[in-house]
Amino acid sequence: MKEESLEMLVTRNSSEEKASDCDKLVVLGAGTMGQRIAHAAAQKGMDILLLDVSKEALDGAIASITETLDHEIEKWALTASEKKAVLSRIKGSIEFNDVTDQIYFIEAIPESIELKQNLFRELETHCIPEAILITNTSTLSITELASATKRPDKVIGMHFLNPVPKVSVVEIVRGVHTSDDTYHKALALASKLERSAIEVFESPGYVTTRVIMPMVNEAVQVLMEGVASAEDIDTAIRLGYELNNGPLAMADKIGLDTVLKWLDTLFRDLGDTKYRPCPLIRMMVRAGFLGVKTGQGFFKYDEDGKMMPGSGLTSTALDRFRTVRKQS
Ligand code: NAD
Repeated sequence: MKEESLEMLVTRNSSEEKASDCDKLVVLGAGTMGQRIAHAAAQKGMDILLLDVSKEALDGAIASITETLDHEIEKWALTASEKKAVLSRIKGSIEFNDVTDQIYFIEAIPESIELKQNLFRELETHCIPEAILITNTSTLSITELASATKRPDKVIGMHFLNPVPKVSVVEIVRGVHTSDDTYHKALALASKLERSAIEVFESPGYVTTRVIMPMVNEAVQVLMEGVASAEDIDTAIRLGYELNNGPLAMADKIGLDTVLKWLDTLFRDLGDTKYRPCPLIRMMVRAGFLGVKTGQGFFKYDEDGKMMPGSGLTSTALDRFRTVRKQS
């Protein structure tokens, strides 16, 4: 049997012990990630307060979670009463006043340091001193984010990946001032959500975003150069490397606005041209072609977010797109 060090035992016991404290979670931002973090946590029995500044985003989030649960019922992976129980654990609100006794807060608002700092500053005025502030940022500095608060020891990153209910890993990221207690609380939350937690040192993009973004960016470059169509690029990479998604469909799922923000931060903070965003991504974001969430990205999507077969961009479609832009 593998021997466990004292340190490992203490870490494991402490996360097991604290796991029982994780019965509630406040999720800020009900977009692509926030709604799925809420869904995954509610499915593990946690009571969720899902906050957003937009009532429309909240309604969309609840509709999307309901739809995902319905798909699970269709696949015999869930019963109707389990669906009811999951939905009953998620309360959506645009009021920040209900958070006074909560310990765990996780933000999933857009990738902007100013927005996230403002949010944490405001949150602090509502929450108890023991509360820990978790960020799902993919590329921003935990230390810089924490510097906006009076509790930098209680700020930590937990980087969940999309789609949260299916991806079983989470990167846990300490800022310079994050305390061991906060780290163990984050571990306890990861254990409650049955995620494999890996510890990552603060660095832009951590492991997952930093490694995958050059591939996504290069795939867009290849499309822009007319080397192959979106469909063929994704088929080649998906089948060639046994991935579930090709890089362009992956970018559409993440959201091209989010991809662009990640690449901008990686390029700025690491200074390496391999992260310089392909101009086509910027052009598509300016045109409002953000991927699944707007129905058009490198592929087209129906109202349920399903990719339309044969809808991938080709160089002819790109030429047409450029011509239309010139005329307008
Ligand atoms: P998104 O644009 O889909 O959703 C953001 C939501 O935040 C919107 O509903 C918006 O109304 C809401 N919001 C904006 N300001 C707010 C505020 N002050 N308070 C409460 N809600 C507010 O964004 P997303 O793709 O879900 O990304 C969110 C975070 O998760 C980003 O930091 C991103 O880097 C990270 N992330 C995203 C993915 C992904 O695949 N999309 C993966 C891992 C991490």
